[in-house]
Amino acid sequence: MNDNIVHIIGGGLAGSEAAWQLVNNNIKVILHEMRPVIETPVHKTDLLAELVCSNSFRSDDYESNAVGLLHQEMRVCNSLIMSAADQNKVPAGSALAVDREKFSFSVSKALYDHPLLEIKNEEVKKIPDEWKNIIISSGPLTSEHLSNYILSQTDSESLAFFDAIAPIVYKESINMDVCWYQSRYDKVGPGGNGLDYINCPMNEKQYFQFIEDLIAGESTEFHHWELSTPYFEGCLPIEVMAKRGKETLRFGPMKPVGLTNKHNVNVKPYAVVQLRQDNQEGTLYNIVGFQTKLKYNEQTKVLRNIPGLEDAKFARLGGMHRNTYIKSPILLDKDLSLSTDRRIKFAGQITGVEGYVESASIGLLAGKFMTSKILNKKIIIPPKTTALGSLLNYITTELKDKKDNAKYFQPMNINYGLIETITNEPIPKLSKKEKSAYTKKLISKRALLNIQEWLNKQ
Ligand SMILES: Cc1cc2nc3c(=O)[nH]c(=O)nc-3n(C[C@H](O)[C@H](O)[C@H](O)COP(=O)(O)OP(=O)(O)OC[C@H]3O[C@@H](n4cnc5c(N)ncnc54)[C@H](O)[C@@H]3O)c2cc1C
Repeated sequence: MNDNIVHIIGGGLAGSEAAWQLVNNNIKVILHEMRPVIETPVHKTDLLAELVCSNSFRSDDYESNAVGLLHQEMRVCNSLIMSAADQNKVPAGSALAVDREKFSFSVSKALYDHPLLEIKNEEVKKIPDEWKNIIISSGPLTSEHLSNYILSQTDSESLAFFDAIAPIVYKESINMDVCWYQSRYDKVGPGGNGLDYINCPMNEKQYFQFIEDLIAGESTEFHHWELSTPYFEGCLPIEVMAKRGKETLRFGPMKPVGLTNKHNVNVKPYAVVQLRQDNQEGTLYNIVGFQTKLKYNEQTKVLRNIPGLEDAKFARLGGMHRNTYIKSPILLDKDLSLSTDRRIKFAGQITGVEGYVESASIGLLAGKFMTSKILNKKIIIPPKTTALGSLLNYITTELKDKKDNAKYFQPMNINYGLIETITNEPIPKLSKKEKSAYTKKLISKRALLNIQEWLNKQ
């Protein structure tokens, strides 16, 4: 009987959702939450599923926004987080925002009241040998002891402590009449073809104007508890590099060497901004080395001054904050199990997703996969045509080689660029904007159909 108990470490958004999915399938859960015995630097209450910052779950429009679609899929899957959010919402236009105290109280009550759930307020420092089924959902501020334990089970390259987020651009919004494909020195590398990067050229005037804009841009501050986080010096924000010297970026991520502008072979660019493919579908590209603390409105303004990115649409803007996450593509199997110790599944922000809803959604999947394991059923993965399936695919799909995964894997919000595109339906002749809206509607309709089909197979 004990072999069927599931131990969940961390009663945040992911751990609470995973627990709910399990107890509703008659599986006993022990939820280990260290608060209030041990505090994190940001949590303020001893409630489960506390929202540490904003009270918004972002857009609730499931026909034109990917996070709205994720909400809807989770509702279909009997999500505790979504039902508590719906019960406690406050007016916020097309967004789903909640009364944070009431929301966390609803989640806590549902779990505390459940006869199959036991809550232990204690820090888990390592996984005991006798535990057979474990979900680690200890979040971006995982305690130091547990981080060290995870490090000891993996390797130093597999755990990140700082989220240095480079902005991600939708490929279709890049002007290829200005930019060109080329890898530096045309290097083919493992799995490449010498044309792996999109390059944006800058002349001298454009470069120095860009540096001035970066220096003048308004940034967000680091929290005091983030200043001592390891690896910080290793990946400085671009505006900090710009402040260190006007040529610093030109000798760093914007170096123009080994590149020839295909549109103007006779003029050597003074600096080059490179974008690297970010998903297998090739719909998203990240701006290489461009982690930044600039405020979001400043970022869009400054980055759209890069030649070729004038009309850039951003799937994600840059940022830097303390965030403990594992390099999931090299560590986890498709069912979120640690491949070197399949007793353990990971869930939530620690798997390399970003955001309340995304964290909860991976908790939901971990709960469902663990349910199938305990009930001796085949684990079925949701398809990539759904928001749930595509987010799972993002965190569990290896890049071209292992070194790339360790170096480049970065946390991600859900967005339409991750979801399999529609290829088998004729799209009427429409303006670019109308076509995008039309396609999103089709993707959402298909996703909701496919998620129901997936659920029926459980
Ligand atoms: C400062 C900050 C602000 C953020 N703001 C937003 C925002 O505004 N909007 C948004 O969408 N996302 C935000 N995020 C990102 C993310 O969505 C949230 O952190 C989210 O709460 C992650 O959910 P989770 O369940 O993975 O982790 P959490 O909700 O953090 O839950 C993890 C739980 O594990 C517990 N724990 C940790 N270690 C142990 C241990 N060893 N033993 C037992 N328990 C343990 C913690 O006490 C915590 O309760 C923010 C993150 C941070 C760090």
